[in-house]
Amino acid sequence: MAYERDNIRALEPYTSGEQPDDASVIKLNTNENPYPPSPAVLDVIVTVTGEQLRRYPSPAAASFRETAARVHSLSADNVIATNGGDELLRLAITCFCEPSRQGGGIGITEPTYSLYKVLAAIHDTPVTRVALADDFSLPDDLAAQWNTAGCRLGLVVNPHAPSGALRSVEQLERIARVFDGVLLVDEAYVDFAAHDALPLLDAVVDLDNVILLRTLSKGYSLAGLRMGYGLAHAALITTMDKARDSYNTDVVAQAAATAALCHRDEAENTWSVVIDERDRLTRAFSDLLFDVWPSQSNFLLVRPPSGSAAGLYQSLKTCGILVRYFDQPGLEDKLRVTVGTADQNDALLAAIQRIPGDSSRA
Ligand SMILES: *Cc1c(COP(=O)(O)O)cnc(C)c1O
Repeated sequence: MAYERDNIRALEPYTSGEQPDDASVIKLNTNENPYPPSPAVLDVIVTVTGEQLRRYPSPAAASFRETAARVHSLSADNVIATNGGDELLRLAITCFCEPSRQGGGIGITEPTYSLYKVLAAIHDTPVTRVALADDFSLPDDLAAQWNTAGCRLGLVVNPHAPSGALRSVEQLERIARVFDGVLLVDEAYVDFAAHDALPLLDAVVDLDNVILLRTLSKGYSLAGLRMGYGLAHAALITTMDKARDSYNTDVVAQAAATAALCHRDEAENTWSVVIDERDRLTRAFSDLLFDVWPSQSNFLLVRPPSGSAAGLYQSLKTCGILVRYFDQPGLEDKLRVTVGTADQNDALLAAIQRIPGDSSRA
């Protein structure tokens, strides 16, 4: 007897990057910030009281929303707090997509963040994929293609994962204006980029069909905390607010994430170190004759000059270094490498030069 819905039976779940218990492993596989969060965040966590825990948290994370609004010069009505950015993605699909095979689904690019299609499959809503060019640029008719397929939610990750390519605000604005549905710009990595898409929410532009996704997981070194948020026109926030779990973010996460945003300058210091290391790694990979895609993120997509990417992934793993290998068309000859600390990056480069056959001997 099968109890589950057909789409759940058929579901291929999301495969997360490995999370080894061994602390000596150099983890360059899930794009965490290699530096710790602000000490102020830890202070807030250890001073959470029994009385705070005894009670339910603020349902809509009031203080956090006020703080995020202040940081982005928006109003609290433009902010929704979620249990990681991933919950915002799920919520957007719930609110804007039809659970039917007849259209009303999500529009994505290929490749993109691999969770999108898994969340669509859980909701049983169709997925329309539009292939990116070899340099990972967006086709000009992206929104038109999504419109033809009847998509209700378009998902653009910017900077792009897994390439790190950054789209301009003008290009995103054009997509939002042409697209008949809601455009969610996933800015999970925007803290490491030259610009963000906040101008889309400016009073002047004020597009009513744009959601920006933000997370505390990457830039703020809080992947373990599970806190993210959405920024959008107040009407979209109200819609999503209706459909979220009543207490979707907990009291510890709300307090810690609020402290993290209040000490944003400390996080910013880590961003500039990561950006400098990213640029150094880019040059070092080029010197080793790897192809490297210009990245505005905290990871690099690289193609080894000889040997297989899968083989290099395995060899690095044997050396205690984890990177990400995607066994999918267009990516099977490449690796995605998170930018680590200077020491971690040096260890990676040294290991690559030691590994026979899989790398340049230039
Ligand atoms: C990390 C990430 C997210 C959100 O992650 P959370 O940890 O759930 O906040 C969203 N989109 C992309 C592309 C990501 O890499």
